Amino acid sequence: MLIGIYGASDGLENTPNSPAGCLLPPPAPLVSDLLIQQRASRLGIPIVAVHRAVLTQQLDFRRSPALLHPGNLKAQKIIAADMQRRAACFWATPCGRGCSIRANYQSTTVHLPPALATGNLHILTDAMVREVRLHENGLAQGVTFIDKTNGSVHSVAARVVVLAASACETVRILLNSKNARFPQGLANSSGNVGRYLMDTVGSSLSGQIPLLESLPPQNEDGAGGEHVYAPWWLYREQHAGKLDFARGYHIEMGGGKQMPGVGTMNGAEWLTGGSYGKKFKEDARRYYGSFVGFAGRGEMIPNEQSYCEIDPSVTDKWGIPVLRFHWQWSQHETRQAAHMQKTFAAIIEAMGGRVKDGPTLDGAKAISPGGYIIHEVGGAIMGGSKESSVTNQWCQTWDVKNLFLTDGAVFASNADKNPTLTIMALAWRSADRILDLMRRREL
Ligand code: SF4
Repeated sequence: MLIGIYGASDGLENTPNSPAGCLLPPPAPLVSDLLIQQRASRLGIPIVAVHRAVLTQQLDFRRSPALLHPGNLKAQKIIAADMQRRAACFWATPCGRGCSIRANYQSTTVHLPPALATGNLHILTDAMVREVRLHENGLAQGVTFIDKTNGSVHSVAARVVVLAASACETVRILLNSKNARFPQGLANSSGNVGRYLMDTVGSSLSGQIPLLESLPPQNEDGAGGEHVYAPWWLYREQHAGKLDFARGYHIEMGGGKQMPGVGTMNGAEWLTGGSYGKKFKEDARRYYGSFVGFAGRGEMIPNEQSYCEIDPSVTDKWGIPVLRFHWQWSQHETRQAAHMQKTFAAIIEAMGGRVKDGPTLDGAKAISPGGYIIHEVGGAIMGGSKESSVTNQWCQTWDVKNLFLTDGAVFASNADKNPTLTIMALAWRSADRILDLMRRREL
């Protein structure tokens, strides 16, 4: 409603439908998507419209603002005006570089402009936070930061401190904020700050599909990302003990004839035999658009061996101690990666395709290194007690009641769903809680 997400409600048990009016219409599947959908369905794998934060039509600026900010006419007016300044996608440019018409969701273009329009937001750039300072009354009193343009040290005071520096950086700030009351790092009476670090389980495989060769040229630029995906579908088999790993994964997939880039045909020698000149042009027309890629994104279960701590001897250029990391996948993750490889190979085979190298059936080799998928979460987990966790369900630290953590650090598990939208939902809930506590003078 605010972000603008395309997708569909497919009635799948582990991918619940969205409330009416939330989702925008998804873009049409690519030709390769349709073939994947047809052949994967023979294997019992559902392929449905992915949920992606790109506007396929203008947001409902007449109805949504009142639902988003009930009773707050100023916020409604600002949001309604801002929604009208976002245009629907025209499917032509690489979204990863930013979206000048603001069709693609980014916090910098979607949240900050209306927040600035309230007049209540002041953004300080090039400010590298070194520590959260604690008052003798046990409350956070603000942060100390370094002006990166000249190295000078400054402080700001605050009634409430919210850390949202990304999971590992938030952990680093906490561990570097030592004081007499918290010698092991701020809000770390449980000893859990830095522990239970997680990433997403990742493994990928691509194939070449003769059925997709020599198709007529057409514009398949589409969204800067998938149009379809496969949500986890084997949870019943898993529950029945038929799989050798816990938790699931979804499959992201790519193919089609997007605008070619430098090196588009690199690595195609196994098909072209190293052709060049006129023959290479013919080969490029034949093979370009006939490749499909599958990437699994799965749940990691937190474990004792995956954590970070302050490195006792290394600091960054500002003299702030850095983190060092310890990592170990369990068999649940490596077996899941092996299952991904088998599944991707089966889909490619069902499409009549071929794989150049692989699949890699040794899960320890098939799995991406920890941190590679850049879905790092955990490190300051939320939970039901101050002995076993760092924050409560409101992302409020148990030890310092005016200190909140609103990034992935609070995740106590890392479901196969990509983490951003959950981080945003938790942050929104925390913001509501902070407002509520401030109004009640409890903060
Ligand atoms: S393709 Fe991406 S960058 Fe281009 S308009 Fe659409 S969302 Fe924006």
